[in-house]
Amino acid sequence: MTNTPRYRALIASLALTLAPMGAVAGTITIETGEGNVSALLQRDAFAFTDAVSQALFDATNAAPTTQVYVTLRSKVQGATIARIEYTYEKNGKTITRVYHGHSGHSLQTMIEKALKRPGGGGSGSESATSDSSGGSDIAEADDIARDASEGRFYPPDTEFDIRAPKLPSESSALESIDIGGRDIHAWDAELKTLRRIEADIERNIVPRGGRITGYVSKTVCESCRHAIEQFAKLADADGTVYELIEPSPVPRAADGRTLLQRSQASSAELLNLRKTYAKATLSKDAHTRLREGKTERFRAVEALENELKKGEVGGDKCLD
Ligand SMILES: [Zn+2]
Repeated sequence: MTNTPRYRALIASLALTLAPMGAVAGTITIETGEGNVSALLQRDAFAFTDAVSQALFDATNAAPTTQVYVTLRSKVQGATIARIEYTYEKNGKTITRVYHGHSGHSLQTMIEKALKRPGGGGSGSESATSDSSGGSDIAEADDIARDASEGRFYPPDTEFDIRAPKLPSESSALESIDIGGRDIHAWDAELKTLRRIEADIERNIVPRGGRITGYVSKTVCESCRHAIEQFAKLADADGTVYELIEPSPVPRAADGRTLLQRSQASSAELLNLRKTYAKATLSKDAHTRLREGKTERFRAVEALENELKKGEVGGDKCLD
């Protein structure tokens, strides 16, 4: 009886449930990142920009106002990017799965909000009221469903690269912390990404006891530090999360001699790359060109079809 699969599954699930209180607990440290961290995060940052650009293009028939692009570019550039690798042993092999997350709501919600802002050129429908904090009107569960359905805008998931949309807090042991009585960190990149790994552990896709190597484009906040600690205990995982430190508003002499200075330089470099990329791909010009290109291709196909029709008619004539 003690060897039945059901019994083993029960023991396994008990072990998982008790793990946070158990004696085994991993340690994940947060360290200052520099240099190559910006290069590692660049691809994910660009993929997010592409996703917003494509979602906006699909959602609008004519190019929106310049203001919409300005709003969305600032959102995209400002979003935190998290790339967290989870490494584990399976059948004598070392396997690494990379989880990709960014902060913020679903693309649809983000775009709707930008269109509704003054100067956004939105229709100002009955649902156009948004509070001064820029909060969304959409219910949390609906926004989570939107986020989950937007995989087509991102690089497709593979066995080793997985997107991390937001998973509902009810399904997770990892929490965000209310700051000033508001749950403003519920859509943070690190929390979303760790929840995605947690879900894989629960579904037995990856085992507990793995190793984390994480890269985050900004200083990890208090709420996410808490989630990282929770994850280390829950998953019995060790590892390091490297954070880039934002440059201080008051510039100081930066000779690149300290780790902090190099981290800030790396952070500034990443932000510049993101700005340049967003300007090139998420802009009125880029979308106008895209629409013209589409029309151009449509005309070319139409012309070809006309030619073929003529050819058929001509062919008939030849047979006469
Ligand atoms: Zn955070």
